[in-house]
Amino acid sequence: MLLERICFNCQKNFIGTGCLPCSFSRAFGFFPCILVLAIIACGYYVITVATFIPLLSSSLFIGIVGLVVTQLLVLNILVNFLLSIFCDPGGIPSSWKPSENMKTMRGSWSRTVQLVQTEETGEVQPIMTWEFKRNGAPRFCRYCATYKPDRTHHCRSCKRCILKMDHHCPWINNCVGFYNQKFFILFVYYAFLGCLFVSVAGIMALKRALFIIGEEEGKQVVSAAFVVICYCLVTIFGLALLFFAVFHTLLVFKGRTTIEMHEIRDLSRARIVRQYNLGWKKNWKKVFGNNALYWFLPVRWSIDGDGLTFESNTDEQLTSLMESDGV
Ligand SMILES: [Zn+2]
Ligand SMILES: [Zn+2]
Repeated sequence: MLLERICFNCQKNFIGTGCLPCSFSRAFGFFPCILVLAIIACGYYVITVATFIPLLSSSLFIGIVGLVVTQLLVLNILVNFLLSIFCDPGGIPSSWKPSENMKTMRGSWSRTVQLVQTEETGEVQPIMTWEFKRNGAPRFCRYCATYKPDRTHHCRSCKRCILKMDHHCPWINNCVGFYNQKFFILFVYYAFLGCLFVSVAGIMALKRALFIIGEEEGKQVVSAAFVVICYCLVTIFGLALLFFAVFHTLLVFKGRTTIEMHEIRDLSRARIVRQYNLGWKKNWKKVFGNNALYWFLPVRWSIDGDGLTFESNTDEQLTSLMESDGV
């Protein structure tokens, strides 16, 4: 006899071995990632098999340079794509717990100061949060039953709170948050460059393929049609990536996440969101790191912060206020 059980994931009742909707969503969650890999493979086919390999016989140097550039681009695209998928965007550590004697203050320019007890030392430290509920209490996630640091949001797809959550991206089946934001943006950059490279360098392959379709018959036409389809697919994908690359660069320059871009329309949130804007240079370094040598490498070296607290352009104002309050 089959018993009715509650799904850990969606909290709904189900009968049988597993919750069907949740099993399906888990299985199909990686489908868009496979689609991205297929588009990368299409671009790789156009640029290597249809463009640079045939060029090796007539122009060896250009052929070799083209193939080397292709490998470098594909390597960067794949590494950043995989890191975006598998790197944890960041969750709230269990030590991040406001203590019993948490103190909430509302100043003339509205912010909260929480006293947080660290698990390791038992010390009570004031943890500043700029964001608070309308009643002045610290933000709390009722799904995870935990207090939320600034810029942390609960993701319904990941079913947990994500530090500095930007958005949930179905193409990587993961959230873009504090720890994988750089990899995600680098993936967008390199994928756009890759598409641009295919669109420009592959134009000869496209012309050749269109000529074959018009003149020849049989097997050759099938492979030529495949080149045309791959070329169009990669070019369309590249146009979409150009939009995302510009969009995310502007957000990085403004020191804002995608969620905060929507939040800023709410006047009560606008001032808090603007506090994270430290000027475009510093904002860029907060995401890509202080050392320019590492900016475009798939590493998180020289990136400051822990995703729990964030520098604000009014931090000096807060420090003086805390001192005057004796915190
Ligand atoms: Zn949560
Ligand atoms: Zn998510």
